[in-house]
Amino acid sequence: TKSTALDQLEAIYGEVIGRNPGEAEFHQAVREVFDSLAPVVQRHPEYLDMKMLERICEPERQIIFRVPWTDDKGEVHINRGFRVEFNSALGPYKGGLRFHPSVYLGVIKFLGFEQVFKNSLTGLPIGGGKGGSDFDPRGRSDGEVMRFCQSFMTELYRHIGEYTDVPAGDIGVGGREIGYLFGQYKRITNRYESGTLTGKGLAWGGSLVRTEATGYGTVVFANEMLATRGDSFEGRRVTVSGSGNVAIYAIEKVHQLGGRVVGFSDSSGYVVDEAGVDVGLLKQIKEVERGRVADYADLRDSATFSDRGSIWDVPVDVALPCATQNELNGPQAATLVKNGVIAVAEGANMPTTPEGIRTLQAAGVLFAPGKAANAGGVATSALEMQQNASRDSWSFKHTEARLTEIMQGIHETCAATADEYDTPGDYVVGANIAGFTKVADAISAFGLI
Ligand code: GLU
Repeated sequence: TKSTALDQLEAIYGEVIGRNPGEAEFHQAVREVFDSLAPVVQRHPEYLDMKMLERICEPERQIIFRVPWTDDKGEVHINRGFRVEFNSALGPYKGGLRFHPSVYLGVIKFLGFEQVFKNSLTGLPIGGGKGGSDFDPRGRSDGEVMRFCQSFMTELYRHIGEYTDVPAGDIGVGGREIGYLFGQYKRITNRYESGTLTGKGLAWGGSLVRTEATGYGTVVFANEMLATRGDSFEGRRVTVSGSGNVAIYAIEKVHQLGGRVVGFSDSSGYVVDEAGVDVGLLKQIKEVERGRVADYADLRDSATFSDRGSIWDVPVDVALPCATQNELNGPQAATLVKNGVIAVAEGANMPTTPEGIRTLQAAGVLFAPGKAANAGGVATSALEMQQNASRDSWSFKHTEARLTEIMQGIHETCAATADEYDTPGDYVVGANIAGFTKVADAISAFGLI
């Protein structure tokens, strides 16, 4: 019966929390998935007998290592490096590296856990993993970043490989860092094993569209949701939080689809530009000068910078949180609802708090969880692996068409699964159940391993 399934899930959840103390973000990510699974274990009690939930919550392997490096003054620093190889049922571990001072095991495990289901949803043969370091790249020179990356890879190389574990970027890790990491991997191993890292430069095995993919994919997913209500981005006001790689290309795609992005942000505040964001200027500031969003407001008459309140105070039709975890809370979601928001799609990983999600869904707002909406990045990484394996490189047009098709497929899978479980339009339930069942069925096919 339903209450038994719920009771059993609660007991397993309690065990998982007890085994992983002090990892708030990981607990939050597990809670969100478990909240969708009661009807699944009701229909498939064999998952409980196989201890499938306990198995999926326990990473296959967790690596924590020391990363020593010297700064430009010759001073020695010691950081901590992580790689959590969470699940390889569907393919090699796949997921990014995050370099940010907030990184600790609980953050890497939440990201790795999310990645397992996200990668499953893409329909491509990739398992889930995540890594990173508490290293803070802000204010560091190219030389310092290079030495850090080299030291990080001097340990990591022994754990990764095109058939084993394929890292990529995340917050604080972009094309520059992947270059230093790949260079060190190639030198240590004496193998030009392109498929070991994704997000590479175009001249050395990278894929067109990988840079744009997460932001583009998020907007494609949001557009599919809007279409279920006969709506689109045409003429819609939009805010995109963040100003990194995901945010920039989400803004670009909203504009291509006829919407107008009127705001973006960073950790110091947010910019409102009623004339619509000048993406070229934003790219110049962020990608070339590595500057802050306040610089944009200094350079553009129609734009103002604010460090009071948040970007969610700006009235919009569509909000795209593309910065970081827990950046959109319950009261902020209530403000968006009061101002008439119709759709929210997560470009970042877990940017909306549980209360934020409840508030939006209770108000009938279309809500796309990150594990579905931001899967375009890792999906295009899998396309990069495909090109590397066949020693080929595809055109922008072909690669973007594949990305669009994959995002539409994920939308269809989530919507159909939500229907199947009698919660039509609930993309959280759809994503969690569809992501979970595919991984669980693969694990069970392998027997007890
Ligand atoms: N860090 C991205 C994510 O959260 C991309 C990972 C990848 O390309 O492997 O999905």
